Amino acid sequence: MAGPALLGDAGDLAGELAELSRSFESAPASKVVRWAVERFSPHVCLLASMTDAVLIDIAVKVDPSIEVVFVDTGHHFPETLDTVERVRRHYGLNLRMVTVGPDAAPLVDGCCSAAKVLQLDRALIGRDAWLSGLRRSEASTRAAAPIVGLDRRGLVKVNPIATWTDDDVAGYIAAHDVPVNPLVLQGYPSVGCRPCTFPVAEGADPRSGRWAGSARTECGIHT
Ligand code: SF4
Repeated sequence: MAGPALLGDAGDLAGELAELSRSFESAPASKVVRWAVERFSPHVCLLASMTDAVLIDIAVKVDPSIEVVFVDTGHHFPETLDTVERVRRHYGLNLRMVTVGPDAAPLVDGCCSAAKVLQLDRALIGRDAWLSGLRRSEASTRAAAPIVGLDRRGLVKVNPIATWTDDDVAGYIAAHDVPVNPLVLQGYPSVGCRPCTFPVAEGADPRSGRWAGSARTECGIHT
């Protein structure tokens, strides 16, 4: 897998990214996206969950041709797959669907690893950086997420809306008429695979419906 060849040596890299991340704390998300595009294009992509298209909306206004990756685990809700197509048409997306091969056994302990993380690993081959819509307020496991950092592959991971609250997201959706997965309005504030995502009560932890009843809180994509 290609490393972040556009940057300096590894020793400088962590410090540079930490400093950048601090400088981006109060920057608009579009400025963070623009930095990533200018620094890494065409070796940068955006990973979409299709809960909503907020980050996509921001990113395509910076670079209409940015590659958007969606991992089709084979276990998504029909509403999510409909949202993928709706968003693709709405923005004329440069969409790359990564689909799980027949070797990925469904719904066993390694399912997330095989179905999501491995597919993302494949999608990131040849990339130097990727964008995600991860937000600190989504979960305690995400509270310390930087805006810019290194992932476990040594690639630059950019979280342009890391500082956003739920109200920030709702406000942006309303102001920009952003497509949203209809499941969000049916009690699924965080939409994952159908067998592992359950509705949550109003006011409850938005991610409590993910892998409800198990110890799992993350699929591994962001860890
Ligand atoms: S969320 Fe569930 S169905 Fe989806 S990849 Fe993970 S274990 Fe498999």
